[in-house]
Amino acid sequence: MIKKLKDFLGFDIQEKKYKLSHDPMFGMISDEKKPDKWVQSACGYCGVGCGLYIGVKDGKALYTKGDPKHFVNKGTLCPKGLSEHQSINSKNRVTNPLIKVDGVHQDASWDEAYKKVSSEFKRIAKEHGQKAVGVISSGQLLTEEFYTLGKFVQLGLGTNNYDGNTTLCMASAVSGYKQSLGSDGPVSSYEDFEKANTIFLIGANIADNHPILTLHIAKNKNKPRIIVIDPRASKTSQMADIFVPIKPRTDLALFNGLAYIVMEQGWEDEGYITANTNGYKELKKHLQNYPPQEVANITGIDVKMLYELARQFVSQDAVLSAWTMGVNQSFMGTDTVSAIINLHLLTGHIGREGTGPFSITGQCNAMGTRESGFTSSLPGYRNFGDPLVAKEYAQLVNVPQDIIPTERGHKYAEIVEAIDKGEIKALWIVATNPLVSFVNQDKLRKIFKKLDLLVVQDAFYSDTARMADVVFSAATWGEKEGTYTNSERRCNRANKAVEPIGDTKSDFDIIVDFSKYFYGVHELLFKEWGKPIDAFNEFKKITKDQLCDYSGITYELLEENGGIQWPCNEQRPLGTKRLYSPDIAFRTKDQKAKLLCLDWYPMAEPQNADFPLILNTGRTVEQWHTRTKTADIGILNDLAPEAWVDINPNDAKILEVKSGDRIALSSKRGRIEDVVVRVTGSVAPSNVFVPFHFNTQLINTLTNDSFCPKSGEPNFKQTAIQLHSKAKPDGLEFQEQVVSGEIEHIKTVFEGVKLHELSKVV
Ligand code: SF4
Repeated sequence: MIKKLKDFLGFDIQEKKYKLSHDPMFGMISDEKKPDKWVQSACGYCGVGCGLYIGVKDGKALYTKGDPKHFVNKGTLCPKGLSEHQSINSKNRVTNPLIKVDGVHQDASWDEAYKKVSSEFKRIAKEHGQKAVGVISSGQLLTEEFYTLGKFVQLGLGTNNYDGNTTLCMASAVSGYKQSLGSDGPVSSYEDFEKANTIFLIGANIADNHPILTLHIAKNKNKPRIIVIDPRASKTSQMADIFVPIKPRTDLALFNGLAYIVMEQGWEDEGYITANTNGYKELKKHLQNYPPQEVANITGIDVKMLYELARQFVSQDAVLSAWTMGVNQSFMGTDTVSAIINLHLLTGHIGREGTGPFSITGQCNAMGTRESGFTSSLPGYRNFGDPLVAKEYAQLVNVPQDIIPTERGHKYAEIVEAIDKGEIKALWIVATNPLVSFVNQDKLRKIFKKLDLLVVQDAFYSDTARMADVVFSAATWGEKEGTYTNSERRCNRANKAVEPIGDTKSDFDIIVDFSKYFYGVHELLFKEWGKPIDAFNEFKKITKDQLCDYSGITYELLEENGGIQWPCNEQRPLGTKRLYSPDIAFRTKDQKAKLLCLDWYPMAEPQNADFPLILNTGRTVEQWHTRTKTADIGILNDLAPEAWVDINPNDAKILEVKSGDRIALSSKRGRIEDVVVRVTGSVAPSNVFVPFHFNTQLINTLTNDSFCPKSGEPNFKQTAIQLHSKAKPDGLEFQEQVVSGEIEHIKTVFEGVKLHELSKVV
């Protein structure tokens, strides 16, 4: 009664609810939610790798707060990191194993789920060979889990058809590093953002996708020149001293053109080139195809600006080039990465403070997949096909050499194609959601229906999990322990804060337990293993003396130091800031980097009369990938509740639409309806942008299946589409673009690379 009266009179200040009390870690904090303990961890979303603490009260995660001492983020977090604890108790969790009976998922025990899947895997292996089982994993697991999964798949199931969704974002960077420098491995450090004089951001909208990195640039006392190269004036372009609105998919030509100018002007670092590279003469000859006026015609960047960009590259002591999906997600992604590396090798901007070609990773542990063995390599960046390498690896893990795969298996897109052809009969998908994230969705869905068995292992009931015959219910971030490695090779410790909900288990436990259903496999591979640290200790042994050397890392060191950057060993007990300094040789046979001759081609799917616009897809800061983890987090969904399409004001005028109207988009492959319009000058005429997160407006219905022939990465970034408004249901008219016709070697239009043309070169 008194409470009601106080409420009525406006005196009720809800003291209990809003009472603050002092917390020794974070100062004043809500008394009601004051944690019993803070558990040190790292963010499980993006590859920036922020350190954080999870606040736990009564066994529930109530807070995430940035670790004030962690080098990467110094206490800050982006909106996703700040609300990550809410993902643990999402309504979208799968809380126990599921088996589909008559088209409906039924609860099952682990034993039933394991028996069903293992018996089918064995039948399929017997009837069609072991390689008829394919596996697609993620960049979301912990390194210990990736290592365990890779070991089980490659040595236990005996299939090399094992790739990750990392091929959808980072494969071109991996292949580019390998073909130019001899090994995968990001070259630089976040500290280089703080030390560079000039920073090129190429196809990298870090303000949305890696927001904490902008703080490292802000700390740079040199007041660096920031040059943003992007067809879209993204949020990141607002940081730029020079914004270069390049025509879509002409970045390779731009970097060839800049290399031409550097050589023409004699601006190369001859001493560095002679001592550290091969291929200079051949490159100089090859670049005669890329004179400035020609490159200006291709890229839409005028000659004067090309000279200015080249001058920026050579007139400063320290130049850093960072890129993300704008470069990687291309049918010539690998070669574009190498064209960027060429320029750094020519100018000697590598291996020193503030320099380097630097790929910024998408997912929290994309690096863990790359290092622990999948389609691209055996664990520890070991190449397939070398008997001595196979022998050494077999000895290290104490298995017969004849079970070590001798060649790489299918890449992601090739796995899909092999299902289509009937060569792969069972697919095990781990922590990824291709039914939203892969290109050409109608085709993919038809292909998946051909499978005898689809198994999905996930913490969330994703679109792909809904289609699965069996679902392995996994624990998620905060419920399990291990390590993540971020974009700058920094291995971070992630501790377990709460118990896994329901009948879920860590991915480590799922795989180790599953191995017991295959005769002799558990005894051979995981005999003494009980905890993730057992996998970590073996991984340290495997990586010793490799470039990605973890041998000196311990969990304790990671917690004390806020992560450690590999290589870390006896000589480098606190890790290594950057690769290819004078004491770290390139990983080629002669220890020299390769200057490569690389060619630009016109668009994989050119605009045409039926589809006269270019669709660019990407991400937004408020959502994560296909929203399996963020769909149930109120604050993120309030900020970005649905997809939208950015349309240039000129095109909007012709279509007679304004911001807030709804519109349809179509391509050769399909049509999506009801996408809200944002009219903005951030996209050029005849260009649109749509975020890819949303299954309600499934933009990958439209995207094309062209792939980089070396990395297998899809060309997500350019798709020819049409827009359909109420006033103009037939859409826009085609404005023919004049593409340069001067370059001798590309007289014929490149038509994209189809699945069957993917090579196994890199
Ligand atoms: Fe997490 Fe990336 Fe945000 Fe840092 S920037 S909090 S790692 S999502």
